[in-house]
This record gives sequence, C-alpha cells and structure tokens, in this order.
Amino acid sequence: MPAPPKVPLVLLPTPLHRLDRLSEDLGIDLWIKRDDLTGFALGGNKGRKLEYLIADVLACGATAVVACGAVQSNFIRQLGAACAIHGIRCAAAVMDRPYYAAAGMPEKAAIGPRNANVRIDGLLGVELHHAEDGDWEALYAVQDGVIRDLEAAGDKVYKMPIGGSSVFGAWAFVNAGREVDEQLTDIDYLVTSSSSGSTHTGLAWHFKGTRTKVVGISADPDPDRELVDDMVELAAGVDQFADAAKNVTPEDLDLRLDWVGEGYGVPSAAGTNAIQTLARREGILLDPVYSGKAFAALMDLAKSGQISGRVLFWHTGGIPALFAADRE
Ligand SMILES: *Cc1c(COP(=O)(O)O)cnc(C)c1O
Repeated sequence: MPAPPKVPLVLLPTPLHRLDRLSEDLGIDLWIKRDDLTGFALGGNKGRKLEYLIADVLACGATAVVACGAVQSNFIRQLGAACAIHGIRCAAAVMDRPYYAAAGMPEKAAIGPRNANVRIDGLLGVELHHAEDGDWEALYAVQDGVIRDLEAAGDKVYKMPIGGSSVFGAWAFVNAGREVDEQLTDIDYLVTSSSSGSTHTGLAWHFKGTRTKVVGISADPDPDRELVDDMVELAAGVDQFADAAKNVTPEDLDLRLDWVGEGYGVPSAAGTNAIQTLARREGILLDPVYSGKAFAALMDLAKSGQISGRVLFWHTGGIPALFAADRE
C-alpha cells in the first residue's frame, strides 16, 4: 500500500531543545519535543494527525465530519480549524465528564465545561452537541445520532475516531519519530502522554529496534485492559502503510496507568505539582489532563532510577485547558 497523502497544517519540524535546569534537578539528560508549538490552532499533537486525516476526508468526498470527545477536547479544537480551512462542516458530540463504565464516574469534577477549548470551538464554527454525562459507549451512541441527523440533512459524513486515532493518526507519529532522528540521537527514553493511543503507537513503531524505549503515560484508567490491544491493531495498520512489518506486540507498548489519578480529565495533585515545576524551572506550560500527568510520571521515574541517561519528553500540547481548570 502506498504511504497516504497529507495536507499541510502544522509548521514542521517542531522545536526540540534541552531542559538544563531540570536535567540538573533530576540527574538525567532531559530534552523536550515542542508539539505544543505546531503553530496551528494553539498547538498540540492532533495537528500532525489531522494532516493525514483531512487528506482522507477529502479523498472520501465528505462534506461533514462528526467527532466526539470530552467537552474540553483538544482534538475537536484542532479538527475545527482544519475543517474551517477546507470548507468542511464540523460537528461533535461531547460530554463534560465521559468515563469508563468499569471504572465508574469519578467523584471529582473534570475541568470546566464552558470556556477554554469550548470558546475556541465556537469561534471556529464547530457545532457542539452536549449530552448528559455517561460512559464512552453512551457518547459514541450520541455521535452516531448526530451522524444520522446530518446524513438525513444531505451531508456526506466522515466519522472521526476518538482523538483522531485511526491508522492515519499513528502514521503521523511514525513521521514525527523520523523528524526527531534529524534533531537528536542516542535517546534512551522517550516519555509521552497517551490516551486514544495513536501518538504512542506511531512513536513506538518508529523506535522499535533502536536503543530508544518509548514510555506512554495513560491519561485514562483502563479497567478492561483494552488500550494496548487497540494500539497493537493500529500498529498493524502502520505496517501496511509503511510496507514494512515491525510486528509490534503488547510487549513493545509500555503503557503506564499509575498517573491517571481520579479519572480522565480530573486534575491530579501530582500533575499540578509537575505543571508548577516545569513552569517555575523552565518557563514552559503543561496541561492538567495529559501532559502535566505525563511529566509527573517522568519526574517520578527519573527519581526512582527507572529512567536514566538521555530522556526526551514529548510535549503534546493541551495548554488551552489550563484556562478551564478551576484553580491551580
Ligand atoms: C489527545 C492528547 C493526548 C493523547 O494523544 P493520543 O494520541 O490520543 O493518545 C496527549 N496530550 C494532549 C494534550 C492531547 O490533546
């Protein structure tokens, strides 16, 4: 299968630089990949995925895209911008606090429902369909309802997977890995936030067989242990695009679940501390849902000696969510 086409949306390569103060604090050689600085709709890892996803939307001849997610979804914000550029109608089913049925609804509230990303979605013309809180399956059912309504109104609809995690999203991060090869070598560990899985999968695919071990820090509880299986499937799709079989197995996908805290979208004390640490030592901002929790993990893993040597932290963006959190 030929490699898929893309439409340009983000400014590449994103910067990669060393964190001198935290390298010293943590006793590692710490670097950061700045996907918060894609130059596209306030940055974040979804811009890379959308370059391939929107090319597929256009190839399908779709007139509308229907997504779903938490109301503060960074993906929906960036999708809205990508659809605006290409004249595609953009709708999304959202919940304030979607959760995993087996984990139950977290007691604490998720980050605030009405400002931040939601405000930008409005500016971009995204049609948000708010549903009552429920589990992810309930949210997918609302998404299907929105798709039916748009089709009935005459649109040709492209159904967006959660977080843009189809094989196109994973493929974007294979290419992101290739981009890093031009910027920094001899990386021992790469630490990234992970949720719908295509960021982690693409990077793990690219670095399989090298010295670089990719560690994903989950933003979601995974009571049914489904995330890694989904990622193995994505990686198999990448094999086809790449015309090269890396045969990624569950053992190749190091996904850590210990830094989720009380639930998806609920800020954690460790995450808040990590956000403050990076802000106060390096002047760089992280978000409370994903990158703050991932950086908390990086600090813990470095302090306990589980990661060492040259470490690359992948900044996946998400900064608008800082304006949705009640307080620091
Ligand atoms: C979506 C997102 C992630 C997770 O990426 P996936 O590819 O969905 O696993 C991490 N950080 C931020 C800021 C995000 O918006």
